[in-house]
Amino acid sequence: MVARTSRMMPPMEYVRLLDEDAGLDGVIAIHSTARGPAAGGCRLWSYPDPADAMADAFRLAEGMSYKNAMAGLPLGGGKAVLRRPAGEFDRVALFEAFGRAVEKLDGRYVTAEDVGTGVSDMECVARHTRHVAGRTALPGLAGGDPSPWTALGVFEAMKEAVRLRHGSSLSGVTVAVLGVGNVGAGLARLLAADGARLVIADIDPARCDRLAQETGASIVAIDEIAGADAQVFAPCALGGALDDATVAALRAGIVCGAANNQLAAPHLAEVLMARGIDYAPDYVVNAGGIINVAAEYLGESAEEVRGRVMQIGPRTRAILETAKAGNLPPPVVADRMAESLMVSPAALEEA
Ligand code: NAD
Repeated sequence: MVARTSRMMPPMEYVRLLDEDAGLDGVIAIHSTARGPAAGGCRLWSYPDPADAMADAFRLAEGMSYKNAMAGLPLGGGKAVLRRPAGEFDRVALFEAFGRAVEKLDGRYVTAEDVGTGVSDMECVARHTRHVAGRTALPGLAGGDPSPWTALGVFEAMKEAVRLRHGSSLSGVTVAVLGVGNVGAGLARLLAADGARLVIADIDPARCDRLAQETGASIVAIDEIAGADAQVFAPCALGGALDDATVAALRAGIVCGAANNQLAAPHLAEVLMARGIDYAPDYVVNAGGIINVAAEYLGESAEEVRGRVMQIGPRTRAILETAKAGNLPPPVVADRMAESLMVSPAALEEA
């Protein structure tokens, strides 16, 4: 079924997925195909109410349109959200059925991993469609773990944000990193190699200890990291790290990190601006991962990935400069820029 809904502006195309035998119950949402196939991962999560799964798919698909356009990728935005079956279930059957559903869309939607799904699931999907990324990397081609690319993009964005605000390199600058998992730890290593000082916090004390030994980072409690004496705060754990309390506690003048959906509420972009804090919008700086996943689907090389990731720094600087000049919150500037890019590349050339 392909239907349209008016729950969001603009109305969003979606396909409801139901295959009782395979345990498949979900939705593929297609927000935009203006720049190319709607690309966005497949989330598997326990949603008691199907309406919640659908709302999440719409919200996430819209977010992918902004992220893909901003990253300069020839892709639109989409997302698949599957309801995790209760109890034991046949994972192979579920993802094979999902692969058949993706194939029916004939390339309008490209899937990959997201929360709750992994490489082995995408290999099941790939038995039925070629419109899938996030598989095992082939020699010489892009693919594999996107985290190092995400960390590099955040690092490049942070360098530019620091240069803009302080006129200096990262050497001697203190960065407070919340969450030192795949991306956070990678970022911390890049920062340490560049001469930055680190303060770190994570719910996993062993991760903190290992990284502190490697990089000389100081470890603080999670509820102390926002108030740490640092020039930059890098949220690299889960979403929603910037809530009213955290923003009020911040001592850093720059926020630049990998986590998705960092603002717990939209008004916090204005609160950050009112406090004189430069917020580098999350989807601009953390695009390295999607750039790598997209390159895998597009058959590009690791060098092409590096080229696109290295553009994240100057792009972040341009957004922060425009925001300052116009007295606007950087997320507003970023969204306007992304919206202007949500047209076909041919139309952009003609403009
Ligand atoms: P990860 O699971 O490897 O690391 C997350 C870390 O955060 C872990 O060390 C975990 O212990 C810690 N953590 C979880 N909850 C916490 C809390 N309440 N307080 C402090 N620490 C907490 O994940 P990742 O791949 O490093 O991704 C980190 C963030 O970046 C996520 O928000 C993710 O959506 C986003 N992101 C990741 C990529 C990527 O390429 N991996 C790309 C874009 C965005």
